[in-house]
Amino acid sequence: DKVSSLYRSKSLLKDNQPDYLNFVCTATTNLEPFELLDYLKHIEVLYGRKNIAERWQERTIDIDIIDYNGEVLNSDRLTLPHREMQNRPFVLLPMRDIVPNYRSPITKFDLQQLCSMLTDMLEIKKEERGDNLWLS
Ligand code: ADP
Ligand code: MG
Repeated sequence: DKVSSLYRSKSLLKDNQPDYLNFVCTATTNLEPFELLDYLKHIEVLYGRKNIAERWQERTIDIDIIDYNGEVLNSDRLTLPHREMQNRPFVLLPMRDIVPNYRSPITKFDLQQLCSMLTDMLEIKKEERGDNLWLS
């Protein structure tokens, strides 16, 4: 459906770790939440292996479900909405771009409020438009 720009954040680790690149997207699926989680894990394995086989260093991929149709779920394998989303600029900023009317099903805060409550803004910047042509 919709895909955000890429956001680049400095690694939390001090040394020469590469920056993190994050984006969020919306998607339509017939998969139930746990099926979707398994599917995303499968994709992570595919791309993780592919990257290792190529010249990309220890770059890995992490695909999380931020929200599933506003469902609230707490289980060992899956927490919805994502339990760390309110702490993560690299989730909230791109979300604000593509789903500005989103509200947390738990706190009812919208993205403007959630963004303004961020305490740890890290170093994050939106990539210039031309840089994410790989998504198209
Ligand atoms: P990270 O916390 O960096 O995303 P992982 O991708 O290894 O680390 O996630 C660890 C586990 O978190 C997953 O195997 C999954 O079972 C669980 N998890 C719980 N809630 C979610 C969610 N909303 N989206 C994705 N994974 C989740
Ligand atoms: Mg994950």
